[in-house]
Amino acid sequence: MTDAGKSDCIFCRIVAGELGCDKLYEDDDVLAFRDINPKAPLHGLVIPKCHVATLDDFEDGDGGLLGRLMLVAKGIAAENELEGYRVAMNVNSLGGQIVFHAHLHILGGRQMKGMG
Ligand code: 5GP
Ligand code: ZN
Repeated sequence: MTDAGKSDCIFCRIVAGELGCDKLYEDDDVLAFRDINPKAPLHGLVIPKCHVATLDDFEDGDGGLLGRLMLVAKGIAAENELEGYRVAMNVNSLGGQIVFHAHLHILGGRQMKGMG
């Protein structure tokens, strides 16, 4: 895992406070905020504060941070009283990833259907 901040990375700029966000959660290592183009009544993005481009860039020792992302998603679901929800990560262009700072999507507040 690399920790190099990328000045041209939109999510690093959000972490740095250079761009605003509608914050859902923050601690020393993780930030979560609402997606600017929500696909569900609640659509959050959960990101590590350090720059990691994709899931492929996490290494064996990074399990703790990856686990934190999932637990933060679970906490957001609980806080928003989501009975059911979806957590997903797009990986690389073929996986639908557009922003190359790894992030979990958390979607809820409507019936989820299929995987497209
Ligand atoms: P990806 O396809 O990379 O998994 O998803 C990137 C997500 O980031 C998209 O759902 C998109 O709407 C969201 N997004 C892109 N730019 C911004 C931004 O500046 N602010 C916020 N809050 N979300 C963004
Ligand atoms: Zn970044």
